[in-house]
Amino acid sequence: MANQEIQSIIIAGGGTAGWMTAAALARVFGPRLSITVVESSEIGIVGVGEATIPAIALFNKLVKLDEDDFLRHTQGTFKLGIEFVDWHRKGQAYMHAFGALGRDLAYIPFHHYFLKEVGLRESELQQGSAGALWDYSLNLQAAKRARFSRLDHIADTPLAGLTWAFHFDAGLYAAYLSRLAQGMGVRRIDAKIVDVQLKPESGDVRALKLEDGRELAADFFIDCSGFRGLLIEQALKTGYEDWTHWLPCDRAQAVPTATTSPLLPYTRSTALEAGWQWRIPLQHRTGNGHVYSSAHITDERAREQLLANLDAPAIAEPRLIRFTTGRRKQLWNRNVVCMGLASGFLEPLESTSIHLIQVTIQRLILLFPHRGDCEERRREFNRASAAEYEYIRDFIILHYHANDRVGEPFWDACRNMAIPDSLRSRIELFRETAGIFCASEDLFQLSSWLQVLWGQGVQPRGTHPFVEAVKPSDRAGYLRDLRNLIADAAGKLPTQEEFIARHCAARRD
Ligand SMILES: Cc1cc2nc3c(=O)[nH]c(=O)nc-3n(C[C@H](O)[C@H](O)[C@H](O)COP(=O)(O)OP(=O)(O)OC[C@H]3O[C@@H](n4cnc5c(N)ncnc54)[C@H](O)[C@@H]3O)c2cc1C
Repeated sequence: MANQEIQSIIIAGGGTAGWMTAAALARVFGPRLSITVVESSEIGIVGVGEATIPAIALFNKLVKLDEDDFLRHTQGTFKLGIEFVDWHRKGQAYMHAFGALGRDLAYIPFHHYFLKEVGLRESELQQGSAGALWDYSLNLQAAKRARFSRLDHIADTPLAGLTWAFHFDAGLYAAYLSRLAQGMGVRRIDAKIVDVQLKPESGDVRALKLEDGRELAADFFIDCSGFRGLLIEQALKTGYEDWTHWLPCDRAQAVPTATTSPLLPYTRSTALEAGWQWRIPLQHRTGNGHVYSSAHITDERAREQLLANLDAPAIAEPRLIRFTTGRRKQLWNRNVVCMGLASGFLEPLESTSIHLIQVTIQRLILLFPHRGDCEERRREFNRASAAEYEYIRDFIILHYHANDRVGEPFWDACRNMAIPDSLRSRIELFRETAGIFCASEDLFQLSSWLQVLWGQGVQPRGTHPFVEAVKPSDRAGYLRDLRNLIADAAGKLPTQEEFIARHCAARRD
């Protein structure tokens, strides 16, 4: 593809990945780029993927999506974090709440002051005079009260307000983006791709052959064909790095249930015998699913556990999905970039797949192969994409590895497994110093790592010595004031149900 000007793109696949990519590229490049999406309504989409993280707001802004309109059309709700039930030990729960915890003082992250106050050896859930870590999270305090508003900051204070993401119906989201993209000139073809044709001289992809005999040629291709990886794997044989030895879950069963009240503004993840169960509340239903390791539990038993742990009647039969955790060795190979499930899979414990689509799109836009030799662009694209995947992988492994569910085979295996060096040194650094240091490609930053480390029972042995410079009575007063301001602000918010009814309720036909 050297020195060729890119004028046409074909996106193979019209799931969340395909339509997010089409909408973003159409918005950025406009009519200069001809964009075609080929999708097969006969094959359909994976249709799960209902929880997101706050960075999705950047994507919404890029494609100029009106948040209320999008929530109305996707049965969407607000998400303030993820509650982890029984992950550290049975009977304990904590939350990975989005947004800040407390407020830093003089360059030293807030949690050092908190840890000094509670005493380093106390259990994470113990309520001493400084309360629990999450008393300093407005997101958690609002989530537990089922409250929500688009609060920018706590009135009359420098404290941040709420940080939110969304839950939505994945099928409706793809349809919404499809309308948006087609409104910007993207061409849609509903047909099955039966062959990928390569240029004999370069090995680049030349054209896609459709079932009806048509051939579609383009300068550049984006593989959004899901787990199949039609172009990136089946045609280009790029290779896959398998992470099952660190993340042994390889199956999920998903089932929707009727809505319950109050409408909780957070995802719940409950650890089970050999995996975990998600609960994602939408306006019209609740999405549930059991992610598990088939080496430790049968499909039948996993199904029984899923159904036994629902909080409302199932409204469909459970659907089985198989996957292999890992990533494609290169996300950009020859004249093909892959997105979404075609690029790899990390289980949905921290709702990161849609985010990975979003950042891969952003990276493609920044390093777009308009013309010229693309070798350096491709190298940087693959380097950054790999790093991003690996940071998220480590974060997810932490949830499994730092458990205290002794005597349960699956959890014993996770606790005793060898973990990546990058994660091992991060845990050790936290143990030694309570310090958390994040690189720019690390999606999850300090407050996320802190909550999961602390929530999973990783105890630091020391805090930053600077916290000694603050008088104990001043420190206690500072913490008390923060707690009171946050609790007071959370109590004044409307319930999520009231907020949705006022701003973004879906039509009930
Ligand atoms: C159990 C589970 C739970 C998940 N939960 C979350 C979550 O909470 N949050 C999150 O961010 N992500 C989640 N994900 C991931 C999320 O579902 C995906 O990242 C997202 O849906 C993107 O999927 P996709 O578009 O890559 O693939 P798909 O939805 O599979 O779309 C593939 C597209 O390719 C087309 N196609 C395939 N073959 C052909 C062919 N031969 N010819 C023509 N078209 C073809 C299909 O028709 C379809 O349009 C979850 C995934 C799983 C498996």
